[in-house]
Amino acid sequence: MGYAGEYADDIAHAVALLREAHYAIALTGAGISTSSGIPDFRSPGVGLWEHADPMEVASIYVFRRNPERFYAWVRPMVAALLMAEPNPGHRALAELEAGGWLKAIITQNIDDLHQRAGACEVLELHGHLREATCISCYRIVPAGDLLDTFLASGEVPRCAACGGVMKPNVVFVGEQLPIKVVNATMEHVRRADLMLIAGSSLQVMPASQLPLLVHEHSGHLIVVNLSPTYIDDVAEVVIHADVAEVLPRVAQACAGG
Ligand code: ZN
Repeated sequence: MGYAGEYADDIAHAVALLREAHYAIALTGAGISTSSGIPDFRSPGVGLWEHADPMEVASIYVFRRNPERFYAWVRPMVAALLMAEPNPGHRALAELEAGGWLKAIITQNIDDLHQRAGACEVLELHGHLREATCISCYRIVPAGDLLDTFLASGEVPRCAACGGVMKPNVVFVGEQLPIKVVNATMEHVRRADLMLIAGSSLQVMPASQLPLLVHEHSGHLIVVNLSPTYIDDVAEVVIHADVAEVLPRVAQACAGG
């Protein structure tokens, strides 16, 4: 836990950059949702890694061959996702957007917590859990009831129309990112003169490359993340701390006039 004055200079610098920016955007990753109780499933030592390699079990090829295996593996994660509530980090970004300081939030998360905190322009590069698609007939349905039933029974969700396996609308390993979301993201990135990277260690392609694009056209970078990232060297402000602690102070200072 930091004391109140910790990072004061860095936060003031970040706020000054946000005030000067004409088109600031945020990029978020798993780190913004860990204090909402959602583990970063790519981090070594976190439960889901111990029994299976997500790169394999969450791949579209394995899913099509053996959906039972995927659903058994993902069940604790779905429970955590459905119970999670937005934290002060999500709320701070929503406030920054509402105040006009941020134009968009690009996220690698699938947890819906930015929207539930009140954010509007959220680009979900890795999809979301609000809907599911039948892998046989491509029918799309709201996922809420399916997931509740799955959590209770543990059985693979099936399509009501054809009996095919239902797949949540999240991007699996080996799948393309949703093209409309990618195009909208690139439009924001092209316009951005500042990117706030919050709770992402920038290890997952292609989202990890977005700060470089902003940097290439002389946009400023602010990094708030527990661990170092590859972009720290060229970022204007780097704060290695919990985003749920730092972002509310940034939002408060911006709103403070
Ligand atoms: Zn179907």
